[in-house]
Amino acid sequence: MQVLVTGGAGYIGSHTVLSLLENNYDVIVYDNLTNSSLESIKRVEKLTSKKVKFVEGDICDKEKLSQLFKQSDIDAVIHFAALKAVGESAEIPLRYYQNNVHGTVCILEVMQQYQVHNFIFSSSATVYGEENDVPYVETMKLGSPSSPYGASKVMVERILADLALSDNKFRGVSLRYFNPIGAHESGEIGEDPKGIPNNLLPYIAQVAVGKRDKLSVFGEDFPTKDGSCERDYLHVMDLAQGHVAALDWLDRHSEFNGVEAFNLGTGNGVSVFAIVQAFEKAINKAIPFEVSPRRAGDLSAFWANASKANKELNWHANRSLEQMMTDTWRWQSNNPNGFLD
Ligand code: NAD
Ligand code: UDP
Repeated sequence: MQVLVTGGAGYIGSHTVLSLLENNYDVIVYDNLTNSSLESIKRVEKLTSKKVKFVEGDICDKEKLSQLFKQSDIDAVIHFAALKAVGESAEIPLRYYQNNVHGTVCILEVMQQYQVHNFIFSSSATVYGEENDVPYVETMKLGSPSSPYGASKVMVERILADLALSDNKFRGVSLRYFNPIGAHESGEIGEDPKGIPNNLLPYIAQVAVGKRDKLSVFGEDFPTKDGSCERDYLHVMDLAQGHVAALDWLDRHSEFNGVEAFNLGTGNGVSVFAIVQAFEKAINKAIPFEVSPRRAGDLSAFWANASKANKELNWHANRSLEQMMTDTWRWQSNNPNGFLD
């Protein structure tokens, strides 16, 4: 079975490509490398001793996509390619809608043209918005996320639902990721943000390696146990395996058409202070931090009800918080400058 992975050179994409190869899928990666490096794919090839076909291209380039679909026998698409910086999305919303929404429509149009029906979409816990109580369950109505980034995920989920109503061959899966962290246990691939990291773990890792002075903890006055925000952190390799489980689910449900959503998380909320402590324990070193004002748009706490994925996909986020920390550190300390090393 051959899978086209858009955005496959990125953080979650590269780990998923590795899992796909280990499960004997053939993989084509399509990526414009705006937020990634080809080195991630080279390292995946080295780790698996398998080849990946790489095509540099933009998901909005329908001509190039059409050529690729024409030449290749593609059975399924896993669609990671997107811009993902929440703050930036409020500054340049049109770019986000163009890339994340229009780009997805382009892929779906080309898939329809070439009669490829299996589609796995990188959705996010952000689609639940602030309207829903935790833990989030797939049966909840989608909310209205405050950022254009979050809104782009809700829009794509709506597009998939409408497409499924109009095309009874379409077989879509929306995987709603919670907070992926960590790296492959080899320390060869991991998260390599450009510039100042927006996310918690890459920031802590850069403080630990001496690239940044101290972490800012955004708020300690939230209505949580220790006052800092709580999130559902899961290991990126568990998340990668969730995609293999979703392909397997599509394969087992040959009669299925429509769109099905699954939460991928551990089911536990962990606070920012608890993450800092867990990281300090893993590296046996203090992480300097200061408490700063809340970040705009941050919800106090959310985590997944992951029962549906546990039961239907036979998938569990098994790796421990300790492993998430040690694997992050192995990647960061072996590659202080990311893939530039
Ligand atoms: P990433 O930035 O590391 O990977 C995205 C990849 O897509 C990059 O390699 C980038 O170069 C590529 N890309 C972007 N726009 C493109 C375009 N127009 N054409 C071709 N390639 C393009 O991000 P990630 O963390 O691996 O996220 C992957 C997906 O998961 C995204 O859709 C993201 O929104 C979603 N997601 C991520 C998180 C998270 O915390 N990392 C959480 C929920 C959902
Ligand atoms: N956070 C923080 N300092 C940082 C980055 C993040 O305190 O430098 C907090 C943020 O307020 C949130 C949590 O860490 O409560 C996770 O943030 P991240 O951006 O990693 O993920 P999000 O859940 O916002 O997608």
